[in-house]
Amino acid sequence: METPSHSIDQETGRPVDIAIIGGGLVGASLACALAPLIRRHDLRVAVIEAAPLPLAGEPEWQPSFDARASAIAQGSRLHFERLGLWQAMAREAEPIRRIHISERGRLGVTRLAAEELSEEALGYVLPNAWMGRVLHRRLAELPLTWHCPARVETITPSATGHRLTLDDGQCLEAGLTVLADGGRSGLKERLGIDSRATPYDQVALIANLEMSRPHGGTAYERFTPQGPLALLPLKGGRMELVWTHAAGSEAETLALSDHDFLWRLQRAFGDRAGRFRRVGKRHSYPLSLVTARETVRPGLAVLGNAAHALHPVAGQGFNLALRGVIDLVEALDAGLPRGESPGSMTVLGDFESRRDRDRHNVIRFSDGLVRLFGIDHPLLSHARAAGLIGLNLVGPLRRALARRAMGLER
Ligand SMILES: Cc1cc2nc3c(=O)[nH]c(=O)nc-3n(C[C@H](O)[C@H](O)[C@H](O)COP(=O)(O)OP(=O)(O)OC[C@H]3O[C@@H](n4cnc5c(N)ncnc54)[C@H](O)[C@@H]3O)c2cc1C
Repeated sequence: METPSHSIDQETGRPVDIAIIGGGLVGASLACALAPLIRRHDLRVAVIEAAPLPLAGEPEWQPSFDARASAIAQGSRLHFERLGLWQAMAREAEPIRRIHISERGRLGVTRLAAEELSEEALGYVLPNAWMGRVLHRRLAELPLTWHCPARVETITPSATGHRLTLDDGQCLEAGLTVLADGGRSGLKERLGIDSRATPYDQVALIANLEMSRPHGGTAYERFTPQGPLALLPLKGGRMELVWTHAAGSEAETLALSDHDFLWRLQRAFGDRAGRFRRVGKRHSYPLSLVTARETVRPGLAVLGNAAHALHPVAGQGFNLALRGVIDLVEALDAGLPRGESPGSMTVLGDFESRRDRDRHNVIRFSDGLVRLFGIDHPLLSHARAAGLIGLNLVGPLRRALARRAMGLER
């Protein structure tokens, strides 16, 4: 058997300062945000990503009809602007100018508009594949080590941080390891970090839709007895559907012909956005609330879905994770000039204290929304309708809700 090499940095033979496990949306965003610190402190950073990237020479990214998209809050846009990435991202970003919230069979409707907040947009909808492309292009320009495709198979605490073994036979030593693996690789569990998991017994069905009329930048959130249904405006007049189903019932909807699927969707959603003309490939995602019981340990930080997987109803998961990225970089920026090592508990404790409140608030907000609208009780329905009507009337409350959703308030 071949002996694995013990240094991540093949050129210098030294351990790395920061190893990021996972080059998905969160890991790649962190690596990009670390760029100034890499230069200022001569940090050695490695990113390990299991999935292969598109090969060099492959055609330019094409917006495919079935691509998944995310609602990006105004606060996240500002962050990407500071990193100099927004200009490229904006090419495929559709501004959300209005949000329309309603409940099926009830009177209440809430409308949020960007102009009320003197903002250009309440947020933006971006295909995940495009965000990934922009982030990975920037990563390719940075002085860091990129292991891809390579999977971290084991992670073991060591005297100076953690030792990682990769499936390509390499062995890496890192002062700070950031777990940004999306939470499904089993690494967290192997470190003995438990999670609280509450299944929602719901599945999100995702698809792109072609509409009979322009969406005008309106996003819709409709609460139905089966769960919330969201429509997000995309570039080119299409809309992204996020349709929640009770677990088990999605199989039938997935198997419907396009014609029957569109008919059923129209019946569930009504005509307020026009007619649904065409549907792309459908994908399904089981939904649960998963939160890691620990997000920092000496030499370790847990970020993104590995730290918290939320219901997509409020479109908060990636936005929350991005604020985690900012806080980690700020904690490093504060600690490194004082001689702290990246994995020290002074740095990580600072990071954790910056995160705690925001994380708690957003998880409570998203989970509360799912539960409030998921309980089928006549009195509650009236209360919700009153709440929606009330929200529409009470400007400051509605504006506070919008600012939270935009990531401008924690
Ligand atoms: C249906 C749905 C809709 C959503 N909509 C929104 C929205 O509108 N707005 C929003 O803010 N959020 C949204 N979210 C949440 C958002 O998608 C997640 O927060 C985000 O994708 C998390 O990114 P991540 O990088 O943490 O995880 P992932 O995207 O899962 O990335 C993890 C990466 O790690 C790699 N990896 C895994 N294991 C290893 C290993 N052992 N070694 C090396 N690499 C490894 C994987 O290949 C992957 O690339 C939505 C989620 C769902 C399910």
